Amino acid sequence: MKVTGIETIQLEEFGNILFVQVATDAGITGLGETFFGAPEVAAYLHETVAPKLVGEDPARIDRLRTALPGYVGTKGTGVERRGLSAVDMALWDIKGKHLGAPVYDLLGGASHDRVRVYNTCAGYRYVRKTVGQARANWGVGTDAIGPYEDLDAWLTGDAGVLAESLLAMGITGMKMWPFDEAAYRTNGTSITPAELDVAMRPFRRVREVVGHRMDLMVELHGLWQVPAALQIAQAFEREDIRPFWIEDPVRPDDIAALARFAHGTRLPTTASELLGNRGGFRELLEARAASYVMLDLGWCGGISEGKAIATLAESFGLPIAPHDCTGPVTWAAGCHLSLNAPNTLIQEVVRAFYTGWYTELVTGLPVVADGHVTLSDAPGLGTALVPGLAGRSDATVRRTGTM
Ligand SMILES: [Mg+2]
Repeated sequence: MKVTGIETIQLEEFGNILFVQVATDAGITGLGETFFGAPEVAAYLHETVAPKLVGEDPARIDRLRTALPGYVGTKGTGVERRGLSAVDMALWDIKGKHLGAPVYDLLGGASHDRVRVYNTCAGYRYVRKTVGQARANWGVGTDAIGPYEDLDAWLTGDAGVLAESLLAMGITGMKMWPFDEAAYRTNGTSITPAELDVAMRPFRRVREVVGHRMDLMVELHGLWQVPAALQIAQAFEREDIRPFWIEDPVRPDDIAALARFAHGTRLPTTASELLGNRGGFRELLEARAASYVMLDLGWCGGISEGKAIATLAESFGLPIAPHDCTGPVTWAAGCHLSLNAPNTLIQEVVRAFYTGWYTELVTGLPVVADGHVTLSDAPGLGTALVPGLAGRSDATVRRTGTM
C-alpha cells in the first residue's frame, strides 16, 4: 500500500478546523484533523509534508512519525506539530480500515467498555472565529441555536439549573471558566477580592442546587501568573466547593512554575492540552507538576504521541483526561485512546457540539449515553466526513497528488 495524495478541507463557517484526508492506492482514505491556524497548517502539509509522504507505505506509522518532521520544532504545538497530528490520525484510520479493526483495538484493545464523560459548558458558537481564548471568541450574546447554550447558562443564567439539566442526562461532571475575564484585565497578574467573589458564584450555585452530586472542573486556560493562580486555588480551599480539578493555571512554558502552583495547593492540578509530544509531557511528569494529564490529539502529535503520553503517565502513576472542544475527528480519536488506555480518568465532551454542529460535519461519532462514551467496532476511527462536505460553498479544498 502506498500513499497517493493528501487533501485538506477548510470551511469558512468553522474557520479553525482543518480536515486532512490521506489517500492510498488500496482505495482506502484516512481522515485526520487539527484546530487553529487552518490555512498555515494546510500550507505546511502541502508544501513540506506531502512531497515526503506520497509514495510511502502508510502502515509504517512509527517510521513516518520520525521521518516526516523537519529539523526544528521539537516540543511545541506549532504549525508543524498540528499538521503532523492530523496526518498521524489519518494513518491510524488507514491502518484500521486496512486491517478491519477499530483504532482502540490496534492500540491494545478496550480497557473499558465505556468511559465516564464530563461536559465542557460551552455553547454552539464557542471558539468559532479567532485563535485565542478571548471573550470575543466565546460566541455569547446571540440567539440560542439549540437547547444547550451552556456557556450563557453559567455566564449570565443559573449554573444550578445547568447542573440539573446535565444530571438529568446522567452527566456528573461540568467545566466552567468564570475567572478568564479578570485575567484579561490584568494579564493574569492579579485578581481582586470582588472579582474572585463573582467568579466563584457559578460554582457555589451548583453546590447550592445539586450538592456534591456534580463534579466541578475549574478551567483557567493558562491565563494566569503563579501568585494570582494560587489565590484562586486558595479561594476554593476556603469554601466547601471541593472542585474536581484546577486546569491549566499557568501556561506550561515553564514546567517549574506550574509545579510551584501544583505543590502550592491541595487541589488536583490538570495539565496540559497545550503541550506537544512525549518529550514535553515527560518534563511535566518528572516535575510532578500535574495530578491529571490532559492531552489533545490534534495538537500533541496525534494518536501515536497520545498513546506514548498515556503510557508515560501510567508509568508515573497518573490518569489521563483527553481533550475535546475543538472538532469531531479529534474528539473521536481521543475517545479511541480513552477506551484503550488503562489509566483513563474521564473524557471531555461538549454536548452543544456532539449533538449539534459535529453532526453536520461527520458521521460515525462516538456515542454518549448515561454520562459515558463508547465506540462501535467500525474499522479505523469509524468517523467520516459527511458526503459532499468538500463541495460546500464555503469550502477551501487543496489537493497534492491523486485522491
Ligand atoms: Mg482546557
